[in-house]
Amino acid sequence: MAKRDYYEVLGVKKGASAEELKKAYRTKAKELHPDRNADNPQAEAQFKEVNEAYDCLKDDQKKAAYDRFGHAAFENGMGGGPRSGAYGQQGDFASAFSDVFEDLFGDFMGRGGGGGGRSRAQRGSDLRYNLRVSLEEAYTGVQKTIQVPTSVTCDTCHGSGAEGGAEPVTCPTCNGMGKVRAQQGFFTIERTCHQCNGMGQIIKNPCRTCGGQGRMQKEKQLSVNIPQGVETGTRIRLAGEGEAGLRGGPNGDLYIFIEVKEHALFQRDGVHLFCRVPVSMPTAALGGEIEVPTIDGGKARVKVPAGAQSGKQMRLRMKGMPALRSSNTGDMVIELAVETPVNLTSRQRELLREFEKLSEENNPESSSFFSKVKGFWDGMKG
Ligand SMILES: [Zn+2]
Ligand SMILES: [Zn+2]
Repeated sequence: MAKRDYYEVLGVKKGASAEELKKAYRTKAKELHPDRNADNPQAEAQFKEVNEAYDCLKDDQKKAAYDRFGHAAFENGMGGGPRSGAYGQQGDFASAFSDVFEDLFGDFMGRGGGGGGRSRAQRGSDLRYNLRVSLEEAYTGVQKTIQVPTSVTCDTCHGSGAEGGAEPVTCPTCNGMGKVRAQQGFFTIERTCHQCNGMGQIIKNPCRTCGGQGRMQKEKQLSVNIPQGVETGTRIRLAGEGEAGLRGGPNGDLYIFIEVKEHALFQRDGVHLFCRVPVSMPTAALGGEIEVPTIDGGKARVKVPAGAQSGKQMRLRMKGMPALRSSNTGDMVIELAVETPVNLTSRQRELLREFEKLSEENNPESSSFFSKVKGFWDGMKG
């Protein structure tokens, strides 16, 4: 059968403007659309014909060639024709089909073109790993080995998902578009192709090791460098150590969330440490020196002034925590807790009674307190 003239196919005069061509094409394409002509076998052929005609005439270069040479411009051997003529093959028809849809329904369906369904590769998810470290480890920094349950690229198929390294093939249901269309009432709607899940390609013989996913579950062993000064809530990102990508997509990242355990001796406030230190009653009264533990595992000697009270705080410069990613170091604050002696011998009791008797005669602070109390009681009576 001889090819019909393209202008005739679209029902316009030779020399019609681009606008007229477009309008004619839209009308014809809607009319002949396969979704509306399920029981008209001729419609599909005509639809193809209309597409072919418009595909040529909407392109200035092709149109010029057609106007000069007619169909001969696109026949094999003439060298003039992109796409070299007929859309006889299935594959070519599929791409023509997609062009039509972009033209007709692209804006209508709220997508700015792009046939969809080509995104086979998928980035792997980011993963979170909670890691508990001691305060000492946060002080020094530490190298930790962790086991991360994650998915890794399949060794057998190297991530392709196909047995024996075979390439995936175009999905026959959607012809590689990843989407299928269906008429619903007035509208033509698109749905993700269920055979290929929108990938546009399927794997004929899935890899037996990974079931065609291209990745598999595995415990991954990682060595993590925990820097000095981490705190609860510090995040450490290990780029590319998250879940493996799907079908050759990039890996996600792994985020280590740090939790610093409570310490028996030290409480932390940012870079500063706090420690409550017991001191004996005689030392507090007479003054002296005490030893306090430090976070580096050593000790520091601290002078207790005579007459120190419970709750007295003293600051030890640079004995706190290192700041994260900085050379600053915090302080350690110690708070004295004067201990009341217990389990006394009779000799100790005797001495304390004697001490008490002497204190009544010589303790200005206490006597001023008691005179205030006496004044308070007298005031209540009056
Ligand atoms: Zn595999
Ligand atoms: Zn499909």
